[in-house]
Amino acid sequence: MSKEPGPLGAGLRIEWHPVQDSNLRPLAPEASALFTELTGRRWKSLYMQPRTCQNGRGFVQPVSGHGAAVHLAEEHMDVEAVFFDVGNTLIYPQPPVGEVYARALRQAGIEADADLAEKHFQETWVRLRGRRPPGVLEYGTTEAEAIEWWRRVVRESFRPFGEPEDFDALFKGLWEHFASGRAWRVFDDVLPTVAELERRGVQFGLISNWDVRLENVLRDLGLWGRFRWPVVSAHVGTEKPEAAIFRHALDLCGLSPGRVLHVGDSYEEDVRGARRAGLQAVWLRRGAADGGQGVIEGLGELLPMLG
Ligand SMILES: [Mg+2]
Repeated sequence: MSKEPGPLGAGLRIEWHPVQDSNLRPLAPEASALFTELTGRRWKSLYMQPRTCQNGRGFVQPVSGHGAAVHLAEEHMDVEAVFFDVGNTLIYPQPPVGEVYARALRQAGIEADADLAEKHFQETWVRLRGRRPPGVLEYGTTEAEAIEWWRRVVRESFRPFGEPEDFDALFKGLWEHFASGRAWRVFDDVLPTVAELERRGVQFGLISNWDVRLENVLRDLGLWGRFRWPVVSAHVGTEKPEAAIFRHALDLCGLSPGRVLHVGDSYEEDVRGARRAGLQAVWLRRGAADGGQGVIEGLGELLPMLG
């Protein structure tokens, strides 16, 4: 057996077996071409066992014309619990932050373009995060600390457009907006995924860098109670990618790190952070995945990996 990272995608493996099965049929030409591309080998003729062909990416079981069978299968992860990141993994702001900021500025009589406001917000956020002293939580542990952080982000994001007269009122409106589930949408693949995990009896939780408002947001969206172990940086006083927040999650579920999987969209926080703490990790790259072991484009790809 050899593992094939790269184009084979998350958790796939290839096995070669002697041909024994008589229940074979030729692989369609386009499937043959795909398989040749995936394996990087030229095959004289390919056959497969129809019962194993379950989807386009895995589970084809072709057999070469030279007496060797090739089994391309999902490599199942052996996990007892799954933790999810929240922002851009389970939920996303809708309308986007730039649109909300631009609307707020326009209400204050300042003309602002939504795309530009989004750009200023993203740049400001990255810049201010970079300036934090080591050991200081991004969103703090109290409402006052979170307000202080977000006031700075909003004020600096607005600066290129001009200074609104009543910044305090404007900021308060934004703070309240993002505290409500109405500002957020749940990705389409979240509910089917958690429903399937529940059906299979796999327990799951959250590990999120977020301020004190997350519980309210997730309650509004009907998600809070579905995650058995919600671990929020503002509540536990440590944040990803620190090992301490993952250890906190492990204490809650009472499992050894190797039996726990974390899924999230940030390579540094969710993947490297989790792996350094000994957990298994899957990198969720919505709409941008280009394959690779441990990378998925949507949560629907997670379930086959769990077996
Ligand atoms: Mg995230």
